[in-house]
Amino acid sequence: MAVAYLNGEWMAPEDAKVSVFDRGFMFGDGIYEVMAVYDGKVFTLEDHLVRLKRSLEAIRLESPHTDDEWRAIINEAVQKGDETPAYLYLQITRGVESPRSHVYPGGSKPTVLITVMHAPVLERNEITPYKMVTKNDFRWGRGDIKVISLIANGLLKNEALDEGFDDALLFREGELTEATASNVFMVKDGVVVTPPKSNFLLHGITRDHVLKLLAGADVPCEERAISEDELLAADEIWITSTGHEVWPVGQVNDCVIGNGSAGVVWQVVDTLFQASKK
Ligand code: PMP
Repeated sequence: MAVAYLNGEWMAPEDAKVSVFDRGFMFGDGIYEVMAVYDGKVFTLEDHLVRLKRSLEAIRLESPHTDDEWRAIINEAVQKGDETPAYLYLQITRGVESPRSHVYPGGSKPTVLITVMHAPVLERNEITPYKMVTKNDFRWGRGDIKVISLIANGLLKNEALDEGFDDALLFREGELTEATASNVFMVKDGVVVTPPKSNFLLHGITRDHVLKLLAGADVPCEERAISEDELLAADEIWITSTGHEVWPVGQVNDCVIGNGSAGVVWQVVDTLFQASKK
C-alpha cells in the first residue's frame, strides 16, 4: 500500500497535508528526488543522495538529516510502502513562513515529504518509440538543480502533447540540452553521444548509469555538444530517466529516426540496464 512520510509522521498519501504558507506552495522553494524501487531496494540510492545534497547546497538550504538518517528513513519508507516496483518521491521545501516574504526565514524548519507509490511494469514489447518535437529551451539557467518549480518543463511538455507529440527535445542557442523530464542520447555510426553536464541540464542519475554500462561494454561514447541538424541525422535517439529508464525515440518533428523503431544499440543498452537492476 502506498505510504507517505511527512516531517517524521507516517500516513496514507491522501492524508498528508501542509500549510498554505509552506514556501514550496508559495514560491516553489524546494528540491526533490525521484528514485526507483526494484525488488524492494532503492536503485542507485547513493547517487540520489549525492544529488540531493548538491541541490540543497545550491538553494542554500541546510539538510535536515545526515546521510545515515536519510538512508534509514528511505529504507523504512520502502518497507512500509511494500510496493515493488515503486517510485519513491522525496521533497524538501524551505518550510512554513508567515507572512509571505522573499527573504529566507531564519531558523524555519524544512518540510520533508516522502511518498512511495506503485510503479507500472512494462513488457519490453510495450515500449513504443516516442515522437518528439524540437523546442527552444527558455527555462532558467540552473537546470542542474532539481527544483520543484517545474512550470517551464510542464509548459513545454504540454505544448508538445497538444501538437501531437510525446515530448519535446530542448535546444539552447542551437545546442541540445535535454527533454522536459529526461536526458537525451543519440547514436551515429556506432558512437553514442550525449550533451556534457552543464548548468543548463539535470545531471541525470540514469544518464550516468547508462554511460557506465556502455563503458563497461566497450561501446564508444562521447559527451559533447549536439546541434539540431546532427540530432536529426542520428541513427538512434534515446531519452533516459528514472521513470523511462532508456526509452527509444522514433521520430523528431517530421523526420523518422533510423527506421522509426528501437535501434540495435538501444537493444544492447536496454539489456544491460535491465540486468543492472537485479
Ligand atoms: N532532466 C530532467 C529535466 C528531469 O526532470 C529528469 C528526471 N525526471 C531527468 C533529466 C532524468 O534524471 P534521472 O535520470 O535522475 O531521473
